[in-house]
Amino acid sequence: MGIEAGLYARYLGYSVVIYEQREVASHVRACGHLRLFSPFHQLRSTLGLAALRAQDPDYRPPDETAQLLAQQWVDQYLRPLSRTDLLADEVRCHTRVLAVERPVLPAEEAAADAEPDDNRFRIVVEHAGGPQTQEWADVVIDCTGVYGHPNGCGAGGSLARGECAVRAGIVYGVPDVLGAARVRYAERRVLVVGSGLSAAASIIALVKLAHRAPETRVTWIVSETLEGTTDGPIPVARYARCPEQQRLALAANRHARAGTTQLDVRPGTTVAAIEWDSQAEQYVVQFADAPSPERYDQIIANTGYRADHAVCATLRVAQRPVAGASPGLGEHPAEGTETGQRELRPERLLTPEPNYYILGSKSVGGDGRFLITDGLQQIRDLFGIIGGRRELDLYATVAKLAQ
Ligand SMILES: Cc1cc2nc3c(=O)[nH]c(=O)nc-3n(C[C@H](O)[C@H](O)[C@H](O)COP(=O)(O)OP(=O)(O)OC[C@H]3O[C@@H](n4cnc5c(N)ncnc54)[C@H](O)[C@@H]3O)c2cc1C
Repeated sequence: MGIEAGLYARYLGYSVVIYEQREVASHVRACGHLRLFSPFHQLRSTLGLAALRAQDPDYRPPDETAQLLAQQWVDQYLRPLSRTDLLADEVRCHTRVLAVERPVLPAEEAAADAEPDDNRFRIVVEHAGGPQTQEWADVVIDCTGVYGHPNGCGAGGSLARGECAVRAGIVYGVPDVLGAARVRYAERRVLVVGSGLSAAASIIALVKLAHRAPETRVTWIVSETLEGTTDGPIPVARYARCPEQQRLALAANRHARAGTTQLDVRPGTTVAAIEWDSQAEQYVVQFADAPSPERYDQIIANTGYRADHAVCATLRVAQRPVAGASPGLGEHPAEGTETGQRELRPERLLTPEPNYYILGSKSVGGDGRFLITDGLQQIRDLFGIIGGRRELDLYATVAKLAQ
């Protein structure tokens, strides 16, 4: 979303800097082996395509209906876009934002070029290799996402007892169990925790692996009891907006109902404690309702992600009490609508801190139903607000020009 927001701003003539702590789209790259559920036309903007075509008349975007791997989306759209003339000089990779503040400085420390009524944000950034600098901005658009802040294995996404000490060995995400990470999981005892789409993807891949490596044993821990549902561990109706997401949920639920010796599903259970037995090289896991602990070779935590507000801790970007969701944006865009149609109201983009905006997955506190199309709508609405022209829609304008 940062790349798309930066591009929109550049088209409007704003001066822009995009800070990225690693490489462009680093969180998407981390799950590069996974197939995206949206077709390509829902993962790009008309503005992005126009910029790429203007840069290189020979640019051939993926087919509009193609269902790309995450890595292909990066290679064929996001990275080339970040290298177009409008953005190339503005994207600062390997530059991590440590803090965004509104400094109240004594006169002698104030920025040399500051106006007396200067109310800009001070951005403290850390460059790869260590040095820190401070820079200034009138408007901050926080698109830092949520994937850097996974929930823990314990009840409600909390850390289980002892989890901190063994975090480095747990995979918080969807590993490539059929590819690069195969040896880590084949013929092993694997614990999967969670009941969202990441858990669905992990389970589907592990079941495939177990067909090829029959001694693989998978235990799937789901905190919900499943009483009164015919679905299975993943609540399918939750993903009503996106048929591909529903297909993923249904496939995982089918495996859960099939009840093989290789997949043991435990609804209504949570992880209470985890320890590492270095001699046996196994995790010793205590479930909340179990008399004795169990042993696992690998743990995959798919318990969701949360919005972390550490970078703007001193600003009035107050947090909601639940799940770290952002103020005014906490409810999922689709919530409250029977049809599941988007209902992203522009005023939800406003935070109590003037000129500080949160877009993208962070704006919904890590709700896994957030789609790129939601983010593009947020960008359009936001620049309508910033520029005081609510009707402004560069995406539609560019689409019309292209016809
Ligand atoms: C397996 C998987 C499949 C998906 N498939 C689809 C799909 O088919 N369709 C769809 O619409 N959505 C899909 N999504 C969701 C989509 O990827 C996210 O909604 C999207 O990536 C959110 O974008 P974002 O910019 O909010 O956050 P991110 O993509 O997480 O980007 C945040 C960026 O900010 C950087 N960053 C974080 N903190 C700092 C800091 N302090 N300083 C500097 N940089 C920082 C990160 O390195 C990262 O590059 C999928 C997600 C997953 C995990």
